[in-house]
Amino acid sequence: MNADSQQPSARVFCIANQKGGVGKTTTAINLAAALALSNKRVLLVDLDPQGNATMGSGIDKNQATVNLYQVLIGESDIASARLRSEPGNYDVLPANRELSGAEIDLVQMPDREQQLKRALAAIRTEYDYILIDCPPTLSLLTLNGLASAHGVIIPMQCEYFALEGLSDLVNTIKRVYRNINPELELIGLLRVMFDRRVTLQQQVSAQIQTHFGDKVFKAIVPRNVRLAEAPSYGLPGVIYDKSSRGAKAYLEFGRELIKRVDASAGRTAN
Ligand code: ATP
Ligand code: MG
Repeated sequence: MNADSQQPSARVFCIANQKGGVGKTTTAINLAAALALSNKRVLLVDLDPQGNATMGSGIDKNQATVNLYQVLIGESDIASARLRSEPGNYDVLPANRELSGAEIDLVQMPDREQQLKRALAAIRTEYDYILIDCPPTLSLLTLNGLASAHGVIIPMQCEYFALEGLSDLVNTIKRVYRNINPELELIGLLRVMFDRRVTLQQQVSAQIQTHFGDKVFKAIVPRNVRLAEAPSYGLPGVIYDKSSRGAKAYLEFGRELIKRVDASAGRTAN
């Protein structure tokens, strides 16, 4: 793996789905903490002006006076904007509502969709994984995320309209791949907030497997109240209650992702 390079660079993954409230931030926070528990060096980039990934990592978004906004518009370097999630044991590039202004500022910049990638280049060798929590839009911010990433992880609920919404996202990923970022790939779909007792969810889950095959992660995150409670304590669910069903699922997901990444690095090296 990276045998010829002295300083291996982080794998960069977007957690994206333009549908709101599907579990992107919960996935980003818990995956960051799960990877850190596996001794990986992790940076979580909060690309959403809601700042939920920042808060859920135990960082007060309103205290983050230097944040992703200043980094994106070139007013601050990335190293001085990042903060540490003490409970999660990973770094965070924080965001708050200031970031919504970036949409407007970026439009006027050359290479407007490449600004996050430019910023991340300075610190990529310091991490094993960089996770980007995308907002629920296919906006210029999300485009910056997709332009920076090797891959996309899509959390999804197994509901009736899930597949329909997915095709817009998959088409966007294809367009970014063709026009902006030839490294971008769909890493996989993660079924979240899953309730086995609901027949419709089982049916949609089966449909997703038929459509996406190996791209569907084996780990399934159940609907679990401990995951929903954790952010109000500023803790990742996997730290807040590590024996809960939700935490166990995210820990399993973290291990599955590491295996998948290591396997594909092995294929590239050979
Ligand atoms: P947005 O699109 O607004 O950014 P999101 O896709 O990031 O939303 P989350 O904020 O992660 O979604 O989750 C939406 C809500 O569902 C939150 O209140 C969260 O605590 C809750 N939630 C997420 N995953 C689970 C789960 N597995 N079990 C129970 N509740 C969950
Ligand atoms: Mg979110």
